[in-house]
Amino acid sequence: MWNKLIDSIDNYYDEMVSIRRYLHQYPEVSFKEEKTAKYIADTYEKLGIPYQTNVGGNGVVATLTGGKPGKKIAFRADFDALPIQEENDVPYKSKIAGVMHACGHDGHTATLLTFAKAMKQQQEKLPGTIVFVHQHAEEYSPGGAKPLIETGILDDVDAVYGTHLWSNTPFGTVQTASNEFMAGADRFTITIQGKGGHGAMPHQTKDAIVIASQVVSNLQQIVSRRIDPLHTAVVTVGTFHAGNTFNIIADSATITGTVRTFDKQLQEQIIKEIEQITKGTCISFDATYDYNYEKGYPPVVNHPNEAAIVLQAADQVDGQTVEEVVPSMTGEDFSYYLLEKPGAFFFTGAQKEDHFYPHHHPKFDIDERAMALAAKTFIKIYQSYHSN
Ligand code: MN
Repeated sequence: MWNKLIDSIDNYYDEMVSIRRYLHQYPEVSFKEEKTAKYIADTYEKLGIPYQTNVGGNGVVATLTGGKPGKKIAFRADFDALPIQEENDVPYKSKIAGVMHACGHDGHTATLLTFAKAMKQQQEKLPGTIVFVHQHAEEYSPGGAKPLIETGILDDVDAVYGTHLWSNTPFGTVQTASNEFMAGADRFTITIQGKGGHGAMPHQTKDAIVIASQVVSNLQQIVSRRIDPLHTAVVTVGTFHAGNTFNIIADSATITGTVRTFDKQLQEQIIKEIEQITKGTCISFDATYDYNYEKGYPPVVNHPNEAAIVLQAADQVDGQTVEEVVPSMTGEDFSYYLLEKPGAFFFTGAQKEDHFYPHHHPKFDIDERAMALAAKTFIKIYQSYHSN
């Protein structure tokens, strides 16, 4: 039965690609994924697999109960897109202006739906229960994972798995880590209040651009000078907005950024250091500030046993090799599942030949064959709980 299941993924490959391409053409941003959720629900309706909609938001959760006893394993795929204008010139280009599946969540959805279809065909012979978790709003904190889990979907689940089709990883390679795998991702905003004035009379002003520039510059010293070099963190300023025209000194300036850590204590240290630097810099210029720090997704920390299951299962898939890797500083709300149940998250290499663009890039695309490998890895993971 298990080999037949693996082969069936190849038989469904064209259909899987068309699901992905359909979703790619009709992307919806986080928390607004109603049509995508309906598409997913309709697919389960047609498959005859019981499902629930509006789970913790736009989430859709389907459950396939096999004919034999066994473990209950959950697999998660997210399905939201990003506010990006697609720049790929492909037949399946996004038809929605300014919205694009630039992170591969269309591929995650096609993978999970195809996995579900394959497993349904063997329902009577199948041991255990599979929970297919289609999660909305991964891209935008506070995210969909937390409210979804709070509805109790993981309550009697033995383990939970998820994968990200990953353009940084070569096609045919699966990567994961036994513990820390992806970072906690936070967001901060600092508004510096100076005193605007005439560009020709700086002495009558408190130049918000000059002060904020120094804040940005001083923030670079947190990671380089204030953190133990053996610990890992990122402090990135992503936006800087100030000023209206060339001959006016800016009254205020606003910067936003992200902090990435694996460790709560380090996170708390950085929260304090940012404020201290901002405060000190502002005092020296007699300016004031407003500081807002939002904690985002916690780090994705895999469970060692389940990470080993991923590596072993993925290695059994033809055309796929596995690699244990160092953590990535990117973030994911899959972390919430791992805080609840044993499990592991992994990257399925999806880099397209001669077309490498990072996630969230307007030219991002995936090697669609990676979806088939991911579906087969899910089968192998599930199998590992049910064969002696
Ligand atoms: Mn993503």
